[in-house]
Amino acid sequence: MPESLLPAVRELLDGVTNPAQYIGGEFNSVRKDLGSWGALAGRMVLCYPDTYEVGTSHNGLQILYQMLNDVPDLVAERCFTPWPDMADAMRAAGVPLFTLENHLPVTDFDVLGFTLQTELTYSNVLETIDLARIPLLARERSSGHPIIVAGGHGAHSPEVLAEFIDVFLPGDAEETLIPFLRFVAERRRADRPGGPMSREELLHDIARTFAYAYVPSMYTAAFDPDNGPFRGLTPRFADVPRIVKGASVFDFSSAPMATRPVVPHARSVQDRISIEIMRGCTRGCRFCQAGMITRPMRYRTVEDLVNAAEETWKNTGYDSITLTSLSSGDYPWIEQLLRAMSERFTPRKVSVSLPSLRVTGELSKLPALMHGVRKSGMTFAPEVATDRLRRIINKDIRNEDVRASAAAAYAEGWAQIKLYYMIGIPGEREEDLRAVVEFADELSKLRQKVTGQGPAAVNVTVSTFVPKAFVPFQWDGMMDRHVVREKQSWMRKLNRNRRVKLKFHDADQSFLEGILSRGDRRLAPGLIEAHRRGARFDAWSEHFELPRWLDAFDACGIDPDKYATRERARDEALPWDHLDIGPSRDYLWSEREKAREEIKTEYCVGKVCHVCGVPPSLCFAIKRDMGLLPTKQLPILSMDGSGVTRGVEGVATDAPRRLRSASPGPVRTARHAAGAAQAGAGATALAATPVASDDSSRETLIDRAPGATECV
Ligand code: SF4
Repeated sequence: MPESLLPAVRELLDGVTNPAQYIGGEFNSVRKDLGSWGALAGRMVLCYPDTYEVGTSHNGLQILYQMLNDVPDLVAERCFTPWPDMADAMRAAGVPLFTLENHLPVTDFDVLGFTLQTELTYSNVLETIDLARIPLLARERSSGHPIIVAGGHGAHSPEVLAEFIDVFLPGDAEETLIPFLRFVAERRRADRPGGPMSREELLHDIARTFAYAYVPSMYTAAFDPDNGPFRGLTPRFADVPRIVKGASVFDFSSAPMATRPVVPHARSVQDRISIEIMRGCTRGCRFCQAGMITRPMRYRTVEDLVNAAEETWKNTGYDSITLTSLSSGDYPWIEQLLRAMSERFTPRKVSVSLPSLRVTGELSKLPALMHGVRKSGMTFAPEVATDRLRRIINKDIRNEDVRASAAAAYAEGWAQIKLYYMIGIPGEREEDLRAVVEFADELSKLRQKVTGQGPAAVNVTVSTFVPKAFVPFQWDGMMDRHVVREKQSWMRKLNRNRRVKLKFHDADQSFLEGILSRGDRRLAPGLIEAHRRGARFDAWSEHFELPRWLDAFDACGIDPDKYATRERARDEALPWDHLDIGPSRDYLWSEREKAREEIKTEYCVGKVCHVCGVPPSLCFAIKRDMGLLPTKQLPILSMDGSGVTRGVEGVATDAPRRLRSASPGPVRTARHAAGAAQAGAGATALAATPVASDDSSRETLIDRAPGATECV
């Protein structure tokens, strides 16, 4: 039976910040019996590499935690990166990193899983591994160490952490994590015939078995001479796939939700119920990685959402519910949902908020629908304030819609508006920045006109654009940090309205984000050196020091501008080319060209499709399943603004294409097709059949499933 570190942990709590974050035992946390520890078929630590305060609020972590612990013979415990005072105390006392449930050493588990939500937590990944007393470099670990996996957005540009993470799991984890954990745990068991697998054997087995698992140590990276650009990855073994797929939960209605989330008893950034109403966004904003890598759009029904909210409310007692998604205004039944939520929760004095509203004319209806709930804030993310820049980023919004929505919100009692803007977008001009300040001022004063009361408080958060993998701007250089700082200070001076508060993301932090977001494995020595010099909690201004990073890079002969500000050539290999997670390179490049020509790409709603690289058959099957397309209507794959139809494989044709069934009888629902596809995925995994070529990477599970549609 493993031994709890709780007595040793207790000794450290006197004198550290916020000690409650280290003791666990929260409402809805799950503590499985240590007496049956040996009988468990898989043990995993879920880690958000930031403080408890930040990590415990992450909905994805809560979903996986509940999902794993709902399986009787599996266990998931949590850990977060200890704050520096605690980390120092642990090192001094010789206490290794522990979990919050049973206070066990992290090394007692089969798998340690990180969720990578921002590059500024990468130094914490190293800090966490080090505190767990696991070698930083994957190649120095033995079979006794847990397998370290990483998912989340960072797993879509994994090369920068390739030397530290054993396995990346890009995409959705809901359907992949349980089979993966069982697979790993079974091969690590000491009582299996022949004993546990060696680490190298196990990693090889993972790489050739799971089409959605990227195992960096199974690939050799090539670079141009003289420390030139990245040239690509080559599998070390013939049975390791060249292309790794991102996992996708197609049947989103049935995907697990966190209806029993852990209720923190220490401070957390989000003390409320979070309900994910849909996943994916096909608006096609050219800066937005989340929108590109989560395609296709998948929805839950109003009934499921209201029931889940009710169940979660009963299990937590929270008095506030947030409906989350990338663009909640695009949820097809948003009015019905708000009405139903209002009917159910207004009498209970539970507020309902929508933090991700896309701005359209329709949006002005929403404040009235939210009548009666507490006015917990109205947030808009216009991103840019001029029409020209909107065409460049492909964000189809109008200032008049923001104005109308703000006016409706003021009329319904809101007195505060939050706006999100970005600077540093390729093609940006001075007039674009001026427009941000002037428009915020106008919106503030609009409340006086609408209500006769004082100007509204308008909080404007201005981030710096950081090009990421899998967006049309992935080839572009990021704006120099000194220029960013000048622009920020110019905008600050321009603002004369005391009710308008401009808050800028730190230009140096954005620069580090830019380096790490498109890095390759040659950055590893720089990360180790920065860690050695004390880098941790880089997302926290009190701990972040760019000079420490620049000195570390310098000591390792790394030029950070090669990664952050350099523009890439069209044919340059990118360190994420081996991942197939949706949008194709051709599609992204064509979108970049359209950005330069200020040409919009229409939202692929209804029957319109731009053949982005996601299987259109899947998108349309999902839309039909949800009643968003008539069952008998054949969707037209109409293409870009030029009227040219590119066709499924990127071949130009002059006629629109239609979907039709590949076998007698159309796919009845996406759920059926997706089920078949997922069965295929499972079979693929169990049969150890890798996806082995570029060509097959674009073939989709759905198109191979019996009865699935295909594009002809
Ligand atoms: S395949 Fe077509 S419909 Fe689906 S996300 Fe891509 S462009 Fe939109």
